[in-house]
Amino acid sequence: MTECIFCKIVEGSLPAEKVYEDEDVLAFRDLHAQAPVHLLVIPKKHIPSVRDIGEEEGPLLGRIFSVINRLADELGVADKGFRIVNNCGDEGGQTVYHIHFHLLGGRSLSWPPG
Ligand code: 5GP
Ligand code: ZN
Repeated sequence: MTECIFCKIVEGSLPAEKVYEDEDVLAFRDLHAQAPVHLLVIPKKHIPSVRDIGEEEGPLLGRIFSVINRLADELGVADKGFRIVNNCGDEGGQTVYHIHFHLLGGRSLSWPPG
């Protein structure tokens, strides 16, 4: 059995508030939301991080970004703006090693990040 919490969410053995699902991509609400809209968009396939992405993953990344755009529209943040975050590696702030893209919006987001 997998030890990866996001694989468990994909399998349904760990609950999550899912907002979008298709054959390859899943989006769910972050457990510790940092903004009114804070979703995690992930491939269902276990890919640990951006370091494991090659050209062959181009179509999958295209699917993920198309889902992000669709959700930004549906959740009403597309016009005002939003942020997509990928943390990679320990110093990059990655805590879950199943690649994921944070979709944050619904408030004014500061820059630079901490
Ligand atoms: P990272 O720090 O790796 O970029 O982001 C991991 C994110 O996953 C964090 O924002 C954290 O709040 C979220 N998270 C961790 N465990 C769970 C969980 O069991 N369910 C959900 N929905 N989010 C989680
Ligand atoms: Zn996984």
